[in-house]
Amino acid sequence: MARREAPAAGPGSRALIVDIVRSSVTVTRVELAALTGLTQPSISNIVRDLIADGIIHETGSADSALGRRRKLIAISPANRFGVGFSVGPDTVTCMAVDLTGGVVGREVVPRLPGEPWDAGRLAERFGDFTAGLNLPTDRIEGLAIVTPAPQPGVASGPASGIGDVRGELARRLGLPVLTDNDAAAAALGEFWSRRVSREQAFACIYLSTEIGAGFVFGGALYRGADSGAGELGHVSIDYDGRWCPCGNRGCVQQYASMRAIVVAAREDAGLRARLALDDGESSAYDAIARAAVNGDTDAHLLLDRAAERLSAATTSMVNLLNLGRLVLTGPGVARAGSIFARRLRAHLDRAAHARQRPGVTVELSAQPRDAAAIGAAALVVQASVAPGHTARQAG
Ligand SMILES: [Zn+2]
Repeated sequence: MARREAPAAGPGSRALIVDIVRSSVTVTRVELAALTGLTQPSISNIVRDLIADGIIHETGSADSALGRRRKLIAISPANRFGVGFSVGPDTVTCMAVDLTGGVVGREVVPRLPGEPWDAGRLAERFGDFTAGLNLPTDRIEGLAIVTPAPQPGVASGPASGIGDVRGELARRLGLPVLTDNDAAAAALGEFWSRRVSREQAFACIYLSTEIGAGFVFGGALYRGADSGAGELGHVSIDYDGRWCPCGNRGCVQQYASMRAIVVAAREDAGLRARLALDDGESSAYDAIARAAVNGDTDAHLLLDRAAERLSAATTSMVNLLNLGRLVLTGPGVARAGSIFARRLRAHLDRAAHARQRPGVTVELSAQPRDAAAIGAAALVVQASVAPGHTARQAG
């Protein structure tokens, strides 16, 4: 039998080892060698460097099959921090996470509608936030700013103009500044903090004013040719359906986004009379979701139909990409996430059953409203301790 050639340790080996330690909670050097195929000396060198950098540490030991004690290795949570800003229509959610993706600080500050991007103002906000948390400045690895993905047919959104200030902001902070869209960031955040293994084909659905998806394959965000991957909202569920500004018809976003659900509720005389739907989109949506989980049949039916349509589009996405694990997140699932999760599981179970494949794991985010900001901060952490995965960086 041919002897298996051990792969050479390269720049990706460090990221690979960090990813395995993170997802395994604790692991021994021998297990790392078995899992990576790298040689024992390579493992020892990389582990030594990671310990010296404070990214991992030895924590107790375990008995091996031969009765020898093996040192266990784990991530050192409080050694480095990432900071993320998630910019919404009227707020900025500021978040700091440690190396495991655990939240160490959160603040929500108002943002004026259409507020222009200003490097000085952002630097000040970053300074106030990190000083308020008393984080050691030399352990903050950078800032990531995430916004909703630009929408086809919409000239300007929160994302427009951010590219112009990124370099200037990085210079002022003396730190790397990353930018991304909220759905992609949320996927990375869930991947990191749930300790998902890099072997799993992982995705996140981000239900918000629009609908987006983020994919983590092999430990890295999948971005597509032009960083535009994840437009789940523009998957058509009806070739004869409603026109969408993207040029297609029947896009699921026209039926199942928070915006579409609020529009449908406002057109329903009964719901209009019972619920406070005249305030902004988010509070109107929250009123619908609250009513749905509290037994309002019409509100429940409205969300359930949206969930049904989102499930149809999601099932196509799952089948196309052969996904293994899926997390539902975003403000749209903060109150009535169970309605969406139930529908989605039923759809996916049918699809899996028809293919005689194992089902897809569907989970609900523990922090759906904060998922994008947590993900932004996780982008910084990943870029810092497992480099080679993150694109679009200035600094
Ligand atoms: Zn569309």
